[in-house]
Amino acid sequence: MEQTFIMIKPDGVKRNLIGDIVSRFEHKGFRLIDAKLLNVSRETAELHYCDLREKPFFGELVAFIISGPVFAMVWEGEHAVKNARALIGATNPVEASAGTIRGDYALDVSSNIIHGSDSLENADREIGLFFKGQAAF
Ligand code: ATP
Ligand code: MG
Repeated sequence: MEQTFIMIKPDGVKRNLIGDIVSRFEHKGFRLIDAKLLNVSRETAELHYCDLREKPFFGELVAFIISGPVFAMVWEGEHAVKNARALIGATNPVEASAGTIRGDYALDVSSNIIHGSDSLENADREIGLFFKGQAAF
């Protein structure tokens, strides 16, 4: 069964949205496999977002992710990667539909509450990085 990596970002944790977001994933039909609250190191944040290292906002993105605790999770279900991205909504909350997590809770692309893996390959990589201590890939 497919698994995906989901992370409530520091803004979502500060705003006490963990319970609501976990509920949304449970109600959708996903099964929770693992979860933890943690402070992300700079190295892990840079590895997590390594595909974006050339982007002008990379420094700001890493600083944001390490600015406070995150809630990291592994969820399992049919088409987990795509179904989770649909629950989360568009990257930019301006474009995210009402009823999605970003559509309901976020205003700005730089603090958009939640991360979800964008492919099966990245889901495996991110689960390895956050839950199995696999920094090298
Ligand atoms: P995430 O990987 O966090 O789930 P995503 O897959 O929807 O988001 P990505 O393209 O992977 O989008 O971008 C990662 C994160 O970088 C976004 O969630 C957002 O917080 C930030 N970001 C993306 N584009 C911009 C931008 N133009 N300006 C500022 N921040 C941005
Ligand atoms: Mg992404």
